[in-house]
Amino acid sequence: VFNFNAGPSAMPLPVLQQVQAEFLDFDHTGMSIVEISHRSAAYQKMQDDTVAVLRRLMQIPDDYHVIFMQGGGSMQFLMHGANFLKHRGGYLNTGIWSDKAMKAASYYGEVYEVASSKADHFSYIPKEDTFMVKPDTDYIYMTSNNTVHGTQWQTFPHVDVPLFCDMSSDFLSRPVVVTNFDFIYAGVQKNVGPAGVVVGIIKDSLLKHVREGLPDMLSYRTFADHDSTYNTPPVFCIYFVNRVAHWLEEQGGLTAIEARNAKKAALLYDCIDGSDGFYRGHAAKDSRSVMNVTFNLPTPELEAKFVAEATARDLIGIKGHRSLGGCRASIYNAVTEEACQALADFMNEFKKKQ
Ligand code: PLP
Repeated sequence: VFNFNAGPSAMPLPVLQQVQAEFLDFDHTGMSIVEISHRSAAYQKMQDDTVAVLRRLMQIPDDYHVIFMQGGGSMQFLMHGANFLKHRGGYLNTGIWSDKAMKAASYYGEVYEVASSKADHFSYIPKEDTFMVKPDTDYIYMTSNNTVHGTQWQTFPHVDVPLFCDMSSDFLSRPVVVTNFDFIYAGVQKNVGPAGVVVGIIKDSLLKHVREGLPDMLSYRTFADHDSTYNTPPVFCIYFVNRVAHWLEEQGGLTAIEARNAKKAALLYDCIDGSDGFYRGHAAKDSRSVMNVTFNLPTPELEAKFVAEATARDLIGIKGHRSLGGCRASIYNAVTEEACQALADFMNEFKKKQ
């Protein structure tokens, strides 16, 4: 099938096959990756290599820690506030995930919107000259790709306070300048692996500002100081991330994958733009996501018919998020150009039949 699910989502077929082939005997241990100790040399070698390959792919400087955590993106909504919200936290509110992060962090103190597109159904990315940053702002928090609404920051803002970014739905889909951020995190279940691990990239100088007295499992310092093995890490997920990261290197790295992703997205956006208004994109054109293409048809009845016929043609996962309705095609790294072409062909055909 062609899998357009929003997350968990399609994984690269060669990686799935590799994981299958390696599953019973990890690195000549005679045991599966899910059976070996996380304190073993074989595990440590794999985790170290995962960090190394992520560092190469993203050019992560030495003064950043790479850590692995559990609890999903939603745990990070709370955790960044627990660690760093002391005076006030500023939020670039561009979708339901940043909205939730702002609410979760408010448990620890004052939060406010630096900019927001909420009044316009989160259909665009605010311009930097509209930002309102208050004094004593501890950090500014943003979401690089808004999975539900299909918008994405095309370039990242430059601000005078530490910048935190949730990259869950476009992690490793394009090059980013890590030094522009003090903290990046990503739940891996869209581009990089199975649900169960969050990759954190955190600047050493920020770690000095972690709130004192936090319970160990809430503190980023615990994960950094113990090389992500304070407790049992999600071994299988980290192993899977390792294999996906190597696959990405074989594809030519992030510049190459970015070009491929742009080509895939253009197939669908060209179809929307050439449909004489039959398909209406949700996102403003200058804010369009290369990962999640969101659109509506003239009526909810036609949308239901569209999704049903797409599913019958093995085009899976096209229904929009429950909060927004409409349709959404998620075209993460592992989704092929062939899949996007098949969907574009179906969209053209469906329109002609109405
Ligand atoms: N952040 C983004 C951008 C997301 O797309 C999602 C889920 O889709 C989340 C956070 C929440 O992640 P989780 O379900 O792992 O808590």
